[in-house]
Amino acid sequence: MDIIVQKYGGSSLAEDGKLRAVAQRIANARRAGAGLVVVVSAMGNTTSRLLAHAGRLNSTPEHRELDMLLAAGEQKSASLLSLALHDLDIDAIALTGAQAGVRTCDAHLNARIRNVDPTRMHRELAEGRVVVVAGFQGASPAGDITTLGRGGSDTTAVAIAAAVGASRCEIYSDVDGVYTADPRVVPDASRLRMLSLTEMKTLAHHGSGVLNERAIDVAIEHGVTVHARRAHGDGGQTVVRPEQAAGGRSRIAGIATHGALLRVDYTELANREALGELLDEYDCFAPELIRGGRGVYLLPTDQLADVTGLCDAIDTHCGEGVKVQGTVASVSAVGRQAGRDPSTLTFAQRLLQQEEIAVHYAFATEHAVCCLVDTDDRAVAAQAFHGGFRIADTGVADVA
Ligand code: ASP
Ligand code: MG
Repeated sequence: MDIIVQKYGGSSLAEDGKLRAVAQRIANARRAGAGLVVVVSAMGNTTSRLLAHAGRLNSTPEHRELDMLLAAGEQKSASLLSLALHDLDIDAIALTGAQAGVRTCDAHLNARIRNVDPTRMHRELAEGRVVVVAGFQGASPAGDITTLGRGGSDTTAVAIAAAVGASRCEIYSDVDGVYTADPRVVPDASRLRMLSLTEMKTLAHHGSGVLNERAIDVAIEHGVTVHARRAHGDGGQTVVRPEQAAGGRSRIAGIATHGALLRVDYTELANREALGELLDEYDCFAPELIRGGRGVYLLPTDQLADVTGLCDAIDTHCGEGVKVQGTVASVSAVGRQAGRDPSTLTFAQRLLQQEEIAVHYAFATEHAVCCLVDTDDRAVAAQAFHGGFRIADTGVADVA
């Protein structure tokens, strides 16, 4: 049987009308004959509200207990969507992450998927059911509920697509794909039709929010092609697929920004080890920019479930030489081998100079050039990059 994995984001399920429309879309795909596994996020801003609720009752909540709470958001979506499908005479079953076979490590709030046992999902699919899976969650080796870090439902979808041998993995959200920049920051950004997984990973790492970076890591590992689409209304899509051929010409595919990176500085080498240990489980953005013996770690705050908790932990564990220095923004130009030619970084800095934007730090990696700027300068900096770089879409015609 041809299996399709679809994932629906929280804003696409935020109201009954939207939930029903999603159910209708799934019903149409089911009636066309495909086996369907549907992964869902928590409705609207449920996850943030649950976190805030816990914070009102306890300022230093245990991560295991938080996972118990947060996982409920996705379970609610899975149940309601399954019920909406039944109402359309579609046979469906809702499963928690654990029931679907998602096994993770035991890093509560930020767990990584170790493997997915597809036995139960295959059994349900063989019975003709649509399998609706609560995203963002799994079970630890001890059998406890874990969650995968903010935005983690994408990762569930890609890991399940690999495990069940799906022919497609479709990620539905309120945008119709990945853009050359965030249209809310750069109004004349346009949709990219085609990207490589490596470029997408780099864009996500540098702050593009459409697809989760860890999900792309899993896609790279298993060679899964991801289709980013809009859940409601028409629109095209962005196809993100494994590199077709090695090499190829360098290009800039898009501009990405982080609006708020938590900046942690260390001045004493002695304290660096404690800091490194503490931040080990986090996905740092550019860990350790070194300047004259001092070092800087940067962490995207939008990926942190508990920013205050982390700041407190840094204060208590790391001693005098380590300080949280507020937040900075980053603006990056990303694309295949974008950082290889040193003149690209010089050009990037010049674009910001022309706008009289102070650059705190500039660096290049293989597929990106990046400048750190004040958070207030983020939008103008992104617009300057978007206007200044020649952005190339190697896209092909949209395919259905
Ligand atoms: N509901 C979770 C979050 O808000 C996971 C997700 O949406 O992917 O981070
Ligand atoms: Mg998301």
